[in-house]
Amino acid sequence: MTQTRQWQLNGHPRGRPIADDDLKLVTTDLPAPGPGQMLLKTLYMGFDPAQKGWMENVADYVAPMAIGDVMRGSSIMEVVQSNAGRFPVGSVVAGTSVWSEYVVHNGEGLNICEPGLPPTAMLSILGTTGMTAWCGLFKIGQPVAGDVVLVSGAAGATGSVVGQLAKIAGCTAIGIAGGAEKCAWLTQEAGYDHAIDYKAGPIRDQIKALAPNGVNVIFDNVGGSILNDMLSQIATHARVVICGGISRYETGTLPAGPENYFNLVFRRARMEGFIVIDWMNEFPGIRKRMVSLINDGRLKYREDVQNGFENAPATLQRLFVGANRGKQLLKL
Ligand code: NAP
Repeated sequence: MTQTRQWQLNGHPRGRPIADDDLKLVTTDLPAPGPGQMLLKTLYMGFDPAQKGWMENVADYVAPMAIGDVMRGSSIMEVVQSNAGRFPVGSVVAGTSVWSEYVVHNGEGLNICEPGLPPTAMLSILGTTGMTAWCGLFKIGQPVAGDVVLVSGAAGATGSVVGQLAKIAGCTAIGIAGGAEKCAWLTQEAGYDHAIDYKAGPIRDQIKALAPNGVNVIFDNVGGSILNDMLSQIATHARVVICGGISRYETGTLPAGPENYFNLVFRRARMEGFIVIDWMNEFPGIRKRMVSLINDGRLKYREDVQNGFENAPATLQRLFVGANRGKQLLKL
């Protein structure tokens, strides 16, 4: 039997920020792996704004979380014991797991970390984050060379990849982010052509000045008033990709519809949401293309690695105050 520390759900943070006591650290005994199971040691954890929605039980595409459940997440893990499990001892794997130092797992949904890149890439550029950027942009946004692509949450893990992919597709990339430092990073490091600081003042006129003929593709991570301002500047036949709505994650309800939605009619435009796991079967092929872009120096990614399992809730909270610089990870 193995003892492990785990973070269990202790409160539903609906309509408010995550509080320190919404998650409880407990020590518990794990059973020995049964037939076909493995004992995994968690090496890194990855964080996503959607986890707050899971804690609230707002998201309906994942099973609801009850008080006492071990917090759900994604991790990089090493196989330390295997009872005829899917991967041999010593393998380093990535995928959906729970906030636990050790986990008994049957291997479903886990992948061996891609050789050639550090294992953490499987939680960032080659994980859900990179897949979200790729699928949202190319499958829903469908950019063509010469398009103007406008991204909110642009300096975040997903948004910073979207801008680079838009540039690779021959588009002009405009990013919206919070603060001068993030905006400077967007244009100097992350390949964006232009950056707009939404914390410095109204953004609508800035979008208009940078895209006088309108925006062809919007990739929205934020929702709320930023989405409304972006919708005011769409070009004819624009594609509006709804990826996330982090601006509403601390309000109690789903957001009201944007006032400017009728521009979709005037501009014959399309607005569409997506859940990236619907393309899961395509991830291996997309990963290969991402790896070759990275190795060719055409695609960069940034990771923000915090330390210590006891800091997991504080690390999740960083996403909601814009403290993360790139994909938020935690090293155990
Ligand atoms: P991230 O962008 O790395 O981190 C969150 C960022 O959001 C923060 O750094 C902050 O940047 C910004 N933010 C926080 N509160 C905000 C507010 N009130 N208004 C405006 N911006 C705010 O996170 P990520 O993992 O890449 O996720 C980005 C989005 O993609 C999330 O909405 C997530 O839920 C969504 N997502 C969707 C799917 C899907 O299948 N549809 C899959 C994965 C992720 P600033 O400092 O710039 O404010």
